[in-house]
Formats: sequence, structure tokens, C-alpha cells
Amino acid sequence: MRALAHFGHTKVDGKLMDALPKLEIISNFGVGVDQIDLEAAKKRGIVVTNTPDVLNDCVADTAMALVLNTLRKFPQSEAYLRSGYWATRGSYPLTTSLGGKTLGILGLGRIGEAIAKRALGFGMKIRYHNRNKKNVAYAYDADPVALAKNSDVLLIVTPGGAGTAKLVNAKVLDALGPQGYLVNVARGSVVDEAVLLRYLQEKKIAGAGLDVFEHEPNVPPGFFALDNAVLYPHVASATMETRKAMGDLQVENLHLHFAGKHVLTRVV
Ligand code: NDP
Repeated sequence: MRALAHFGHTKVDGKLMDALPKLEIISNFGVGVDQIDLEAAKKRGIVVTNTPDVLNDCVADTAMALVLNTLRKFPQSEAYLRSGYWATRGSYPLTTSLGGKTLGILGLGRIGEAIAKRALGFGMKIRYHNRNKKNVAYAYDADPVALAKNSDVLLIVTPGGAGTAKLVNAKVLDALGPQGYLVNVARGSVVDEAVLLRYLQEKKIAGAGLDVFEHEPNVPPGFFALDNAVLYPHVASATMETRKAMGDLQVENLHLHFAGKHVLTRVV
């Protein structure tokens, strides 16, 4: 087998590569390549490609939906209506506005910038933290704790993998505080999930909107009982149009590689 068209969610490690000695290219469906051992691929001269940019808008839409749903509690208020409580218990409790709030973007890359544009349209202020400061008009914080401290909503959209493992930990959530919200569209590994669950249960942060989890598709059952969390089953890029564009780019990279040409979106 000379090529692996990978869906992105299972591990591709050195052991698997050794079992496929003719492997030349791993063409990943998705921008996140955290499940692929890039060093092992590099060592073996295996090309790795991904599908950046074509999913920016869709993932940014989902991120804003999570911000909106988490602060405004629309899913919970709909469940309230469907349970018949509107007539028996009265109006749904008041929620929190987006306008004037500060959105702290942890990982202002391709998707992060698309999210920032949308959030400005909602009247939010933008701050961010990357390892490298960018030439953008948004305020920069030197580390995730400072960003959390200065934000009403901390939104994670970094890559996953070892470099960001548990980057959002108790210290960061303490800085976010009891009025602060966490939104994660990156990878579950970027957050200390056990700590996050406890902080939501104990109301040490106000709420969370999560598209990704540490051990998908298994979500710790404690999350299901929370009224202050909005949970999506990793659907950020999941539209017909975007998934087709991702698939087309994945296949195009394979065609180019086997035609002896440069692939479009090489990671290593
Ligand atoms: P980019 O590479 O364009 O952006 C990633 C950003 O994260 C960069 O600005 C980078 O800046 C920053 N970053 C990386 N490591 C760190 C770190 N340790 N601390 C702080 N910032 C860091 O990627 P995309 O915007 O295209 O995608 C981002 C991620 O979103 C993907 O890797 C994937 O995990 C996730 N994703 C999730 C989807 C979903 O379905 N939920 C769909 C698509 C993507 P710098 O290098 O300067 O630190």
C-alpha cells in the first residue's frame, strides 16, 4: 500500500508505518494532524498532507454558534419549552449578552481569524494568545492565563497534540473565573477535561461550549447532567459543502503526489 487516505480520528504511529513499508503519503481528511506521528513520517520520508482553509468558515460558524448557545442558553431554553415548563413554571431565566464582552482567542490562526471577524459583527472585543505575536489589530496576551484573565469568553482553536496538551488547566480556568465561559473547537486534549468538569459542577466558571472531547466519542457522563454546558458531537466542519471540499483536497493531494507533482497542502 503506497497511500493512506486518513479520516483523522485514529492513531497513525511509527508501528503502523513500519507495517506499511511501501507507504509514500498520508493524505489526512481534516486540518488537525495530531493523530499522526509527524516525526515518524518525516524519518521514513513519508509525505503528510491535510485540508486547511476550505473548512475555516464552517468551523468559525460553529464556534460562534457555541459562543451564542453557551451564553444565551438557547438549547436549554428550548428543552425547557419542550418539557412544558414555560406554561407551568413561567419565563425561562435571564441569560448573558455577547455584545461588549471580550472574546479571548487561544490560537489565532486561519480559523481563529475567521472567528474574530464574526465575533466583531456580534459587537464583541477580541484579544488573543499565540506563541508568536501577529501583525493584527487585536490585543495580545503573553500567555493563556493572562488571556483568560482579560476575557469573558476564552475560545480554544489551537492544534491538538503534545505541544498543547492540557494547556487549559486549573490555573487558566481560575483566571477565567466564575463569570467566564470556555469554548473549545480545537481538540479535547488541549483542556484538562476532569478539571473542567469539576469547575462546571462547582460553578467555578460560568459555562462551557464544547465541540471536542478527550476520548471521542466517549464523553464523561458527568457532562450530560450540566445545565451550564452546551455539547456538540465534533460537528464543526460537518456540512455537505465543507466535507466535499475537504474530500476533494484530500484526493487532489493524492493525484498530485502520484503524478510526480508537488502536493497542495504539505505538513511534512
Ligand atoms: P493554524 O495553524 O492556522 O492556527 C493554529 C494557531 O494556534 C496558530 O496561530 C498558532 O500560533 C497557535 N498555536 C499553536 N500552538 C500553540 C500553543 N502551544 N500555544 C498557543 N497558541 C498556539 O490552524 P487552523 O486555524 O487551520 O486550525 C486550528 C485547529 O483547529 C486544528 O489544528 C484542529 O485541531 C482544530 N480544528 C477543529 C475542528 C473541529 O471539527 N472541531 C475542525 C478544524 C480544525 P503560534 O504557532 O504562533 O503559536
